[in-house]
Amino acid sequence: MREFVKFYQKKWDERLQLLRKNDCLKSMEEALLRKQAINFSLNDTIVENYITDYTLPEGLSFHYLIDNQKYIIPMVTEEPSVIAASSHGAALVEKAGGFTTELHERLLLGQVIIEKVQDAQKFCSYLETQFPRLLEIANQAHPSLLRRKGGARWLRCRILSAHIISLDLAVDVREAMGANMMNTMLEAVAQVLEQSIKGQVLLSVLSNYATECLVSAKCKLPFNILEKNNLSGKQVADKIALASRVAQLDPYRAATHNKGIMNGIDAVIIATGNDWRAIESGAHAFAARSGQYRGLSTWEIKDGYLVGKITIPAPVGVVGGSIGIVPLVAVNQKLAHIKSARELEKVIASVGLAQNLAALYALVTEGIQHGHMNLQLKSLVLAAGAHLEEVLPVVESLRKTGKRDAGSAKKALQDYRK
Ligand code: NDP
Repeated sequence: MREFVKFYQKKWDERLQLLRKNDCLKSMEEALLRKQAINFSLNDTIVENYITDYTLPEGLSFHYLIDNQKYIIPMVTEEPSVIAASSHGAALVEKAGGFTTELHERLLLGQVIIEKVQDAQKFCSYLETQFPRLLEIANQAHPSLLRRKGGARWLRCRILSAHIISLDLAVDVREAMGANMMNTMLEAVAQVLEQSIKGQVLLSVLSNYATECLVSAKCKLPFNILEKNNLSGKQVADKIALASRVAQLDPYRAATHNKGIMNGIDAVIIATGNDWRAIESGAHAFAARSGQYRGLSTWEIKDGYLVGKITIPAPVGVVGGSIGIVPLVAVNQKLAHIKSARELEKVIASVGLAQNLAALYALVTEGIQHGHMNLQLKSLVLAAGAHLEEVLPVVESLRKTGKRDAGSAKKALQDYRK
């Protein structure tokens, strides 16, 4: 791979020429990379070795009523059924008065891991006497946060093993997700720990297990809105509650239950320029907080209603990172009327619960494939090589055959072209 040495130093155009010259690309493929590079001057500054823009579809989800306020939710996803399911779940909840949410706190956690500690208990006790000084050092490292009424709030010491401790720092990061601000503060604290407290620092970085940044959403559905085909609303509610119980009992089911929740949350996280890996890792760590991986949401029958609840860590931002850089993020914030990180937290918790309701509703009534595959048919037909104008008629003839596989899609396309 010598020909690609210092690829990052080359101009965008030179990189594509180099790929072509080395037979990595045919001319059609090079042309596609060039055509798709719609924002090359900006994105070349965001990632290393940039070659093109990989775009994902964006759509809007409707019917969200959250704390008596209506929201239109921009969602970015490649999965065909996500947006329709989100709107369906939200519409059911809207009929029942909407979501209510609760913000618990909004602090980001970071860790300085200290190794080779002789007496962990003694070292922690000593560190505690240094907390006021260390908090001041953390704040000095990012003073603008204090001006915004944020900043370092507290420290705690946790003994991880006989010789390893974690010094945890909690910071109010205001409207940002805060990873970089936190890391700057932690490194300043780590430096002092090494220089004057003589601790041996292994590493310092934020924790994505954002237990101090939790948000909950709740909804309460009367049975009658859940009726489906030959099932009464009460029967559907009972089945949803039981499916939720299974997700508490069985990690195999819980992982899929939570994937459905994250289908919606990730789509909003991406549309709002946030870090979906951070939200994913935090959500799954939180799902395993009891020692067993469980569903993030619960549904139960209470006082004649189906009551759904979700709590997730939601360290999101409305400024910072790529949020101010990617032009579409500002448009999406405007579409959704989201003005603060707290508001975005409430929205993503509600979206997660709506998405989960739609998935469970489909699963316990007509099965997931009915709605899902109807939307997947379009993707199947496109993958079979259909041109855009051929998609709808071929989907229609495929639907009539009742078949849902790639071979049948190809055959339907061939028949259409005859
Ligand atoms: P930034 O580093 O961009 O910091 C936030 C910026 O927003 C600061 O420049 C701050 O200005 C500015 N700002 C303006 N108004 C406000 C306000 N009201 N409240 C807070 N800040 C404000 O972003 P983050 O620190 O949020 O870091 C997020 C990025 O870090 C993401 O891209 C993420 O992917 C990445 N990251 C994630 C990691 C992880 O999850 N493990 C690890 C490392 C990075 P000022 O400087 O004046 O305070």
